[in-house]
Amino acid sequence: MTHYWYAVAAVFGLAAGSFLNVVVHRLPRGLSVVRPRSFCPRCRRPVSWRENVPVASWFALRARCAGCGARISARYPLVEAAGGALAVAASIRFGFTVDAAFAYAFLMALLAITLIDWDFRIIPDRISIPFIAAGLAWSFASPRLGFAESALGALAGGGGIFAIGEIYRLARKVEGMGGGDVKLMAMVGAFLGVRLVLPVVLIASLAGSIYGLALLRKGGGGKTAVAFGSFLAPAAAVCLFAGERLLSWYLGGF
Ligand SMILES: [Zn+2]
Repeated sequence: MTHYWYAVAAVFGLAAGSFLNVVVHRLPRGLSVVRPRSFCPRCRRPVSWRENVPVASWFALRARCAGCGARISARYPLVEAAGGALAVAASIRFGFTVDAAFAYAFLMALLAITLIDWDFRIIPDRISIPFIAAGLAWSFASPRLGFAESALGALAGGGGIFAIGEIYRLARKVEGMGGGDVKLMAMVGAFLGVRLVLPVVLIASLAGSIYGLALLRKGGGGKTAVAFGSFLAPAAAVCLFAGERLLSWYLGGF
């Protein structure tokens, strides 16, 4: 019987992933995410429901617009598939509970932020600020996280990144981290609690450094701007699932 509910979660997640594609495309451009319905950016042909079935339509259309033949990026079906996979993962980890619904909303917000920061080097307040409030609200529904731990997490996450950014600015006279990263980490701290703030920042810094070094080896020049939010957000997703285990494994080493 539970298998049936996992299938429901997957279908819901695929649809949510499809909506996320719209959000990632329109929100940073200041466009409405509800109107008008999707259309081809080249020939403006509206996308019919048959051409808008998550993942399947991309294959059926062979990655091309039915009107003008413009290529449709593989990112669209990948984001839809990620939406489905994350819904199933959240159900496995948190069951079919209110807890899972909050966790899934958090994961989808992180996915949107990862893509938008990568594309535009911005983290929209319209995502991060409501989700700070959602994370604090979650602490009332969550059996694992108390309100104090959530509120402290928001303060430590936002405050920590703000402090690191100031040190960067003073020491190297460059803008290391923006206000978007501060609000993102306040949101992450509210959802994960104060204990997981440092693991998230460490994992993101490690991944960001490896990526930065790879860019340098390719000859990308000395000062390569890395969208840090695109590393913080996936690190937060990892810690939602594995953070406590990572923490006890690390602390157990002493
Ligand atoms: Zn077209």
